[in-house]
Amino acid sequence: MTSEKITSQKGKKSVSEVIASFVACPRCSYFLSSYRLLHEDFDSAVKESAAGWLLLSWDGAVNLLVQKSFGCHIYMELDSFQGICRECQRPYSYQKIDPDTDKTSFRVKIVP
Ligand SMILES: [Zn+2]
Repeated sequence: MTSEKITSQKGKKSVSEVIASFVACPRCSYFLSSYRLLHEDFDSAVKESAAGWLLLSWDGAVNLLVQKSFGCHIYMELDSFQGICRECQRPYSYQKIDPDTDKTSFRVKIVP
């Protein structure tokens, strides 16, 4: 009893656990399944997730997907944008890192 450590509390979620969390919500489920068709970096985003946030790729297709999934259009002129899923209150955040190169970061919270 004493030798067993509980590591799941602080340990990162596995890819399947993260997927299960998104599947629980119809909007997030649609977002994630479509995102995985567009980009192949979801697994590595889960592995490199920090403080419960997934750092995902950002491009015009993902912007359109956010619009379709969450009903919210992110204007490229914006420096930052914070939104939440209306269904499960999962937050997502868009931020322009370098205005000169249009480098952006797009993050989605793993657990709403
Ligand atoms: Zn949701």
